[in-house]
Amino acid sequence: MNNTSPHVVDTAAGAAATPATNAENGHDARRAAGHAPAADALQQRCGLIAIVGKPNVGKSTLLNALVGQKISITSRKAQTTRHRILGIRTCVDGSGGGAQYVFIDTPGFQTQHGAALNKSLNKTVLGALDGIDLVLFVVEAGRFMPADARVLALLRESTPVLLVANKLDCVRRRAELAPWLLEMRQRHPFAQYVPLSARNPRDVQNLLDICRPYLPMQPWWYDREDLTDRSEKFLSGEIVREKLFRLTGDELPYSSTVVIDTFTEEKSREHGRFVRIAATIVVEREGHKAMVIGDKGERLKRIGTEARQELEKLMDCKVFLQLWVKVRSGWADDAARVRSYGYE
Ligand code: GDP
Ligand code: MG
Repeated sequence: MNNTSPHVVDTAAGAAATPATNAENGHDARRAAGHAPAADALQQRCGLIAIVGKPNVGKSTLLNALVGQKISITSRKAQTTRHRILGIRTCVDGSGGGAQYVFIDTPGFQTQHGAALNKSLNKTVLGALDGIDLVLFVVEAGRFMPADARVLALLRESTPVLLVANKLDCVRRRAELAPWLLEMRQRHPFAQYVPLSARNPRDVQNLLDICRPYLPMQPWWYDREDLTDRSEKFLSGEIVREKLFRLTGDELPYSSTVVIDTFTEEKSREHGRFVRIAATIVVEREGHKAMVIGDKGERLKRIGTEARQELEKLMDCKVFLQLWVKVRSGWADDAARVRSYGYE
């Protein structure tokens, strides 16, 4: 990535519909515009690529590597990605043309039934499969579990799907992959098979090259510096959530969430731009609250410090972050509340 400070498009200020909030209409409008002759003259390609797969196969890691900057949070804990996250990568060639890849990260297909939260997540997965040019179906190389099959069952044969066999670095004997790849061929008419490691930059560049021909010729939808259409406020919540899960390990149930209460920008004489954020960590039980706060508040302090440092890097300014912890018993089962926390 050639730009040093991340560029985040302000969705609130932007007049254009964004794929993340207005998927179908937004895509149609852009697609129609895409047939203008200007696109061919400029040799610009642009399209939507969905990244799908069960939890923990490395989708967020791959998205971040493809975009060249951290956009989606990653964690060893399964199912940390709840939202559709859009990452944008623009590869410019000499003549002003090139390819703009617009990626969608989807939550893994949820295997637990019943809870309103999971229903809302499943809707998000299905919604992501409309109007896209290419699907990256991510699995762990050499493995195919029932949960992988459930995601695969959602894919249509009319959209090209690449089988991305990730975590290749974990496969000891590459020869053993050949029979597995043959087996995968029986499962779906994949357009191509791409064994790789999301942690290997060369593999990631190779994947970009493979995806390129699948993008239709049409003008770019975003500026070449744009990395995401998510607001800084949204990304702030994601970063606090990532630190929360990283620093509580496996102890904290995944239904815990982070709500950004206020996000205000100020000009300060000392620091130039200055952002003040108040966020609430919502947990299900008193015990979880104690876990998040930690001994003498140590853990909450660390979550706050690490999140603030990363936010300062992301937004390239001073950040003042205030964290609160609240108990909201049973919120994951309450459809109205799930909506009010923004997981529609
Ligand atoms: P997601 O749930 O599919 O979005 O998965 P994440 O991107 O959060 O990754 C889950 C875990 O797999 C994290 O601990 C990643 O660091 C790890 N991971 C991702 N890609 C690779 C890879 O290529 N090799 C190895 N060894 N681990 C990976
Ligand atoms: Mg993820």
